[in-house]
Amino acid sequence: MSELSADVVIIGSGLSGLVLGYRLQRLGLRVCVLEPSPQGPIFSVNQGGFLVERGLGDLLATPQVMNLLTELGLADQLVSATVKPVRYLWRQNRLQPVPDQISALLTTPLLTPLAKLRCLSEVFVKPGQTEETVTEFVTRRFGEEVAQIICAPIIQAVYGGDPGQLSAEAILKTCVAQERKHSSVLRAWLVGTKTVFTPTVSLSQGLQQLITTLILQLKQSFTPNQTVLRLQKLDRGYELLTTTGESLRTEVLVLATPAYSSGNLLKPLHAALARKLLSIYYPPLVTVALGYPQATLNHPLEGWGHLIPKGQGLNTLGGIWSSSLFPGRAPAGWHLITCLLGGAADPQAQELEEEDLVRAAHCDLQKIFKMRQEPRLIDCHRRPASLPQYCLGHPQKVAQIESGLQQMPGLFLCGNYLAGISPSEVIAQATGVAPRIHQYWLSQQRVPAF
Ligand SMILES: Cc1cc2nc3c(=O)[nH]c(=O)nc-3n(C[C@H](O)[C@H](O)[C@H](O)COP(=O)(O)OP(=O)(O)OC[C@H]3O[C@@H](n4cnc5c(N)ncnc54)[C@H](O)[C@@H]3O)c2cc1C
Repeated sequence: MSELSADVVIIGSGLSGLVLGYRLQRLGLRVCVLEPSPQGPIFSVNQGGFLVERGLGDLLATPQVMNLLTELGLADQLVSATVKPVRYLWRQNRLQPVPDQISALLTTPLLTPLAKLRCLSEVFVKPGQTEETVTEFVTRRFGEEVAQIICAPIIQAVYGGDPGQLSAEAILKTCVAQERKHSSVLRAWLVGTKTVFTPTVSLSQGLQQLITTLILQLKQSFTPNQTVLRLQKLDRGYELLTTTGESLRTEVLVLATPAYSSGNLLKPLHAALARKLLSIYYPPLVTVALGYPQATLNHPLEGWGHLIPKGQGLNTLGGIWSSSLFPGRAPAGWHLITCLLGGAADPQAQELEEEDLVRAAHCDLQKIFKMRQEPRLIDCHRRPASLPQYCLGHPQKVAQIESGLQQMPGLFLCGNYLAGISPSEVIAQATGVAPRIHQYWLSQQRVPAF
């Protein structure tokens, strides 16, 4: 048994575990962050002058994000999006801008005149009474065309998800709140309830810079090559068994692991809590990043990317125009496009050979941008379990998970399946949970040891 000189053990060094570890360290606690891989998560990859983000690669510049970056000395590394936040939809063999605000629904060529009239009648639609999926909510309020043509491709690409399964309350929080308060999303917009615009930023060397800096700050507290195999409940605290045969004891334990890992670890300790965690679905997702000389594309790529609705005969969910989004993502004269494949819509995609994945992505891009040249493959990355799906009932599931935790003193959960998947939401959650853990630890210092 190893004597652990840490006040809090955190299992998992994703963004959640690292930010939480750093925050607890700043509160004066000694932490130990256990991570199976040798170096922590890989967010960005440098290859031949290209910089690929394996996730979306962007951060919303919320106060928590800006505070963290400033504290870490990364503020001077910030880069802002260089193009307007326009996404394009591939429909009827051409790219058309996706309406970026509610008024644009009335002018977009993507919708028929009848669908636009249906949008206007949203003010007369009564508020819903029961929890709905994203598709049900949008169809009820704005009609089927908005749900199928505009909303579905966005949800498929951003969440890798199926809008017919995802919970409107979890995914479309603002719209659901506006419906509750004003009885209509359009009316909320008309009375001036505008969504506050938060700029999108990244770091000059990609989001990996954030990961590397957090690990540097954690110093010896970051413990790589350690997978936790088993947990045991003690009279006071928990015992952890790792694959290297080490056994560690701690009074305060945080599982900053994906819901399925947390569920497996908690099975022997709290079966009901484990079942809830294990029921959260993570579909597979593949990113294929391809480089092309700018001159070979028939489009300036001034925007954030393109989305591909189902039924267009293409293979991918869409592509992020990475070299347009932030500076320094491709050598001069080149474009970098990161295509997304798989997700809940096409989970079999991840079983394809790399060559077939690249071919599928390139064929789609060729159809859209008409280039003849073969691409330069920059990165092909498979994630067998990518992002947690906030399916119907997710908010209640999270409440049940939190209530299950009441029976496990000293145990905390932190992760992107609880309060939002985006890096900004993950940072906000870890920042919020740190003072609670600190309080708990302080309270334990007053309890005499056995
Ligand atoms: C590759 C990648 C792709 C992303 N894609 C998107 C995207 O498409 N859209 C978007 O908005 N955001 C994306 N993000 C960022 C987003 O913020 C993620 O939701 C966030 O990074 C998740 O962080 P997490 O710490 O909650 O979980 P994870 O990053 O999943 O971290 C969990 C950690 O737990 C460790 N772990 C698991 N089991 C054990 C065990 N038994 N013992 C010890 N450690 C264990 C894992 O090794 C891992 O490091 C992506 C991030 C990454 C790294």
